[in-house]
Amino acid sequence: MTGAAPLLRDVFGFDAFRPGQQEIVEAVTAGENVLAIMPTGGGKSLCFQLPALMREGVTVVISPLIALMRDQVRSLQEAGVAAGALTSGNTPEETDAVWEALDAGTLKLLYMAPERLAAGSAMGMLRRVGVSMIAVDEAHCVSQWGHDFRPDYLRIGELRRTLDVPLAAFTATADAETRLEIVQKLFDGTPPRAFLGGFDRPNIHLAFAAKNSPRSQILNFAAARKGQSGIVYCGTRAKTEGLARALSEAGQSALHYHGGMDAEDRRIAERRFQQEDGLIVVATVAFGMGIDKPDIRWVAHADLPKSIESYYQEIGRAGRDGAPAETLTLYGPEDIRLRRTQIDEGLAPPERRMADHARLNALLGLAEALECRRKTLLGYFDETEITCGRCDLCDSPAEVFDGTTAVRKALSAMLRTEEWFGAGHLIDILLGNETDKVKQRGHQSLPTYGVGGEYNRNEWQAVFRQMMGHDLIRPDAERHGALRMTDAALPILRGEANITLRRDSIKAAQSNRRPAVKAMVSDEDAPLLSALKAKRRALAEAAKVPAYIIFTDRTLIEMAENRPANLDAMAQVGGVGAKKLESYGFAFLEVINSEVEVMHPQRRKLAGRDAGSVYDQLLEAQAELARGALGTEKPLSCSASQLAKVAQMPNADDTALTRLLGDRRAERFGAAFLDVLRSAG
Ligand code: ADP
Ligand code: ZN
Repeated sequence: MTGAAPLLRDVFGFDAFRPGQQEIVEAVTAGENVLAIMPTGGGKSLCFQLPALMREGVTVVISPLIALMRDQVRSLQEAGVAAGALTSGNTPEETDAVWEALDAGTLKLLYMAPERLAAGSAMGMLRRVGVSMIAVDEAHCVSQWGHDFRPDYLRIGELRRTLDVPLAAFTATADAETRLEIVQKLFDGTPPRAFLGGFDRPNIHLAFAAKNSPRSQILNFAAARKGQSGIVYCGTRAKTEGLARALSEAGQSALHYHGGMDAEDRRIAERRFQQEDGLIVVATVAFGMGIDKPDIRWVAHADLPKSIESYYQEIGRAGRDGAPAETLTLYGPEDIRLRRTQIDEGLAPPERRMADHARLNALLGLAEALECRRKTLLGYFDETEITCGRCDLCDSPAEVFDGTTAVRKALSAMLRTEEWFGAGHLIDILLGNETDKVKQRGHQSLPTYGVGGEYNRNEWQAVFRQMMGHDLIRPDAERHGALRMTDAALPILRGEANITLRRDSIKAAQSNRRPAVKAMVSDEDAPLLSALKAKRRALAEAAKVPAYIIFTDRTLIEMAENRPANLDAMAQVGGVGAKKLESYGFAFLEVINSEVEVMHPQRRKLAGRDAGSVYDQLLEAQAELARGALGTEKPLSCSASQLAKVAQMPNADDTALTRLLGDRRAERFGAAFLDVLRSAG
């Protein structure tokens, strides 16, 4: 495709498309209806922003969150793109500027909140301004089943019909039901060209750990990543406050966030997280949709998420800039019990509840996985070609043992007590503990009484937890959480199947060594990286924008490692587009090289482009001819701006050069310049 690659480079500052992007960009640019499902951080925005620049007219972008829209608009403007938003948060000046650009026909991207579509005037306005495409971000918000449902999204279908232009819908939510709803509500049931997959986020490290002392597990994980932005997800509101306090007491900067806070406090927390470097937010799942921060370095779950999809979405908030990010998910029997009960006691119809149990099972399978987490996770999304090396089980393989006998003993204890008890009492029976409850019920006379002496209480708890994880047993809400066997356990009970369990997670709680703080670059580059970050912070504060709007962590890491020596080399760094090179390139170059070579402003504008090296060659050719071919004539030279124009001349010939340079200069330099241009072209 002509045109896309240079824009990718010059406007967005990227060398190459990420997996999947190019095909989507091509289809959207060609005006096809498109539904693209890409993981969070996969680079969805580019898939409508770049086509918007390639197409005539205005692209309307519908996006659910004002903060997120404003952020994207600001990033685009920083990159030199004519973008604007019409939202309730605008100042009158901002709104005026958007209207002026629309009237002048210069605006390329117009961001709108779905609520705006409700106003009768909106449709007429959009028809008048020459909208040529609609892009819908977070398209799963049309799904009435989902927890992100936004009624105003249902108006988008009408908008598409009225304007009769192509529509491109984007989301990170994968499941088939939601996909179907999107097709019905946005595309009137006619399936668009669909792009699925590419779910791997190779820069994210995956790890799970059995809960033993959750608070210190989380505190240690955060301590090892001090100074890096992170999110801790908790199951309850009360826990977010307690854990945020504990983190603050441990010397971290941490905030709590949950749906029970008033709107203003939530906004303040969101804004601080977005703007500040190295802040931790301890939150319920209410925190996330509005967050578009690419440099979140870690995500920890203090409690197990509700499904494999939620897990994927939540960890996916880390490392959107592509630099390494880490995750840790804690889980224990109480989590499993809580999640099962929530599903059983929910109001969803029975098929839905079955599906929810299946999604939870998939997550538990991941938690109890015996080999590579990434393979297990992506296997769920039907991806099979996976290379990992970035998960806890690839780091150190699980130690396993044949758990068949242990599981049979546990099942037998359950069945002989008619499935009326929880793990605590069952373990007392297995261990032969003569508790009051055991005596009252006469359980010391059961054949299973005291047959489990090979393991201690902690180890039996881990066996029960793994049995829940494999969905062999489930707590029954109607029996106050008593454990009941599922059909999946029958083959093991009957001796027709064996089961392998993990040994390392049944070891008694290990001491939690406090790990050293992890660095993002080698020791050698670390001081430069901090200096670059300090420069970024200063520029961000001056411009009142979040730091990553200037450059992302990933870009700074590349600068620290490659140490560009001049603006040309700086332009090769990922994330440094033409506009940012012009605005910030020099400032960062000065940090890297205390003495930087001075460039003529005309030449600086060509930095990083082919025309830059052509310019240098023209300069050389001119120097050789400064006093004519024989070195006997009067000195003569062209101005820098003339040279820049020559360097960028599309079809140079004698006539064009004479028109630009005048007779005398054209006569002296024309032939040599044409040689340079020919050999460059
Ligand atoms: P999402 O798919 O979650 O909307 P974004 O569009 O916000 O993701 O992109 C996530 C990050 O990836 C951003 O920091 C963006 O600048 C970066 N990115 C997008 N495309 C590319 C690319 N082709 N090369 C490098 N970085 C990219
Ligand atoms: Zn792995």
